[in-house]
This record gives sequence, C-alpha cells and structure tokens, in this order.
Amino acid sequence: MSIPDIRILLEFQAQPTSGCQGVNDLLDHHIELIQVQMHKLQSLEQQLMKLRHQCEQPHLVQECGILQNLSDVASSTDSGGHTQQHTTA
Ligand SMILES: [Zn+2]
Repeated sequence: MSIPDIRILLEFQAQPTSGCQGVNDLLDHHIELIQVQMHKLQSLEQQLMKLRHQCEQPHLVQECGILQNLSDVASSTDSGGHTQQHTTA
C-alpha cells in the first residue's frame, strides 16, 4: 500500500461514525492489484524455469539456449500491462 492509501485509511479512522465500505473497497482494490502482480510474477517464473532447463550443463556462450532465448523473454515481459494505470489523486 502506498502512502496516499494509508492516509485515506487514516481519514476513515477520523470519522468513526461513517460507514466503512470505502475501507473495504480500498482493500479489495489492493488485493486485486496483488493478484495481478502475482499472476505476472508466476508467468515470469514459468518462463525463467523453462529457459533454465535449456542449459543443464555448462558450455559455450554461443551454444547457450538461455542466451539464445533471452530476447523472447525480454520482449514478452516488456509488452502490454501498461493499460491499467492506477492514478492516485
Ligand atoms: Zn547455457
């Protein structure tokens, strides 16, 4: 959670008699963001593990499957994912 979000939570705390739905919404939003991040990290982990298996034994760099496929991973992790920009006011 970012500093502005914590400040929002503290503002809720300052209004003890108002409803706490906004708090839940904020947390739900963060849970969602974390799940998206975890999904991205898991797919990156899968890609790296797949890549790792292409180099079981030490050998020449020019024959290394990891280095040969590195550009694929770089391009797939780079592209997309920047459409959902979370702007905090
Ligand atoms: Zn190798």
